[in-house]
Amino acid sequence: MIGGRLGKWISERPRWFHRAAIPGAVWRLKPTDATPGRKVAWLTFDDGPIPDVTPAVLDILDAHGVKATFFMVGDNVERHPELLSMVKQRGHAVGNHTLHHTRGYRCRHRRYVDEATRGRQMMATNLFRPPHGFILPWQLFAISRHDMIVMHDVVSMDYDATQSCEEIIERVKRLTRNGSIIVFHDSLKAWPRLKSVLPEIISWLKQQDYELRAIKR
Ligand SMILES: [Zn+2]
Repeated sequence: MIGGRLGKWISERPRWFHRAAIPGAVWRLKPTDATPGRKVAWLTFDDGPIPDVTPAVLDILDAHGVKATFFMVGDNVERHPELLSMVKQRGHAVGNHTLHHTRGYRCRHRRYVDEATRGRQMMATNLFRPPHGFILPWQLFAISRHDMIVMHDVVSMDYDATQSCEEIIERVKRLTRNGSIIVFHDSLKAWPRLKSVLPEIISWLKQQDYELRAIKR
């Protein structure tokens, strides 16, 4: 893990070498049916679903009338299948974030692809986001035959307890542009910050004329 300013520079927006290492993945998304003159951004939430967090995130999204995409971990879905249903019923999209939040480069190819397959079936999705922001080329090749690999354009860094809410809000405001896919986490680690920053960020994006949509394939 790289710390300090360099770490932040690398983490908050994926750099060219990160994008080049994952060819064919989606980092920004400009929908063909965008309303003329309006911008679109995509809120995404990784690592849930978690009973003490995910329903509260859904309430915030509902209060603002916006949709989002939840990249779920299979272990959490197995523990709380009702939360998978709840997210879908409330009109949001679900993506697969592996069964155990698995790091691709520490995992045998066959096991990683098997996890991706089981997650795809469990969550009934064709969206995949590799944990820790990285996937090996042969894993990418195998999984992208079935799934859209959804990366990100803006990392809020809500998971980092050294970040203040102001820093997170400022980062998202500074980096978001038309088509940005923004990463948050519906995790216990991120929630102390997320609960404050999310309503503010959504309000700001709406003021800036962004439509906030769920990723649909
Ligand atoms: Zn994750």
